[in-house]
Amino acid sequence: MVLNCRHVWEYISGYLDNTLDAEIRADVEHHLEHCEICSAILDSTRNILILTADDRVFELPLGYSERLHARLAAAMLEIPSSTEYEEEEPPS
Ligand SMILES: [Zn+2]
Repeated sequence: MVLNCRHVWEYISGYLDNTLDAEIRADVEHHLEHCEICSAILDSTRNILILTADDRVFELPLGYSERLHARLAAAMLEIPSSTEYEEEEPPS
């Protein structure tokens, strides 16, 4: 099965929780190997999980979700050349 980015986004939480079927997990990993956008989203999601992993209350900045989705929408329009979604942590 070939996943597109939207499929991968639906699987990201399961991927991080290690609850995906092995076959789906392999498909997601394969997609992540060649998709910068989904890799960036995975990193962002993982960072949020790390921030929330202890019992402290952590609130996302106001508008985070809207900005994330705006960035995703922009990125989808600009595949494959855009790196705009990397604004918070430019690759070193
Ligand atoms: Zn993707």
